[in-house]
Amino acid sequence: MKKIFNYSFLSIAFTAILFSCNYSVKTEKSTDPETHQTSAESKSDCNEVHWSHATGESGPENWKNLCDGYTACGGVAQSPINFVTNTIEKSDSLSPLNIIYKSSKTDIINNGHTVQFNTSGDNTLLLGNKEYELKQFHFHAMSEHTVDGYHYPIEVHFVHRHSDTDYAVLGIMYEEGEENPLLTDYLNNFPESKGEFTSDKTIDLSKLYPADLGYYYYSGSLTTPPCSEIVSWYVLKTPLQASKTQIDKFSKILNNNYRPVMPLNDRKVYGY
Ligand SMILES: [Zn+2]
Repeated sequence: MKKIFNYSFLSIAFTAILFSCNYSVKTEKSTDPETHQTSAESKSDCNEVHWSHATGESGPENWKNLCDGYTACGGVAQSPINFVTNTIEKSDSLSPLNIIYKSSKTDIINNGHTVQFNTSGDNTLLLGNKEYELKQFHFHAMSEHTVDGYHYPIEVHFVHRHSDTDYAVLGIMYEEGEENPLLTDYLNNFPESKGEFTSDKTIDLSKLYPADLGYYYYSGSLTTPPCSEIVSWYVLKTPLQASKTQIDKFSKILNNNYRPVMPLNDRKVYGY
């Protein structure tokens, strides 16, 4: 995997997944003349940057210019991508996904960019001998990855960490169908704007993925700033289901929080 990655942004990389940018900053910036005078200075401080999935200055096309720590967003190994199913190759080095999920306390955050479950407890993804610890899972609507150009209505990302420069993200699509048990339990608790919901209720994480673990694999990046190219992507071929009512309600909360697909460039996608 290419590592166009600046180590000084390590902490940003992970906090950016966990926390949102500060929306109040934008208001301050646009009304405070002093801030304008120090724009070069503020460009180096990514914590104060407002980014979004909308079109315009804060949107995906311009993420790479928003601050020095986001230059990877203009890199050549970015995510998400479109999977062209008739070009996907087999690889002998891939192995079955060994997902060892147990349970987690309920800790749901709407950070202004996504609805995210912060997980606790001993939940891992084992790839060969390498252990990746589940940190959180969050959702996008529509899906970020596409399959032969098709967007599923929702995609969930299970974010696992081995080290600061080595993440594995498991992507699973949702299609319209039966009611989804996780959404049945929690959709009414999702904060509709920035906010948090916690309870003592335990979530059985082993029920959150399909039985068939066939996947597409490629090397890519975080799909939100700082877009660090540190992610091994495993996107399952088999989608989960959610009812139309659930998808409609959830999509409204997520509000088109997907990054458009990025060029594959010289990378290859492998199937298992
Ligand atoms: Zn994501």
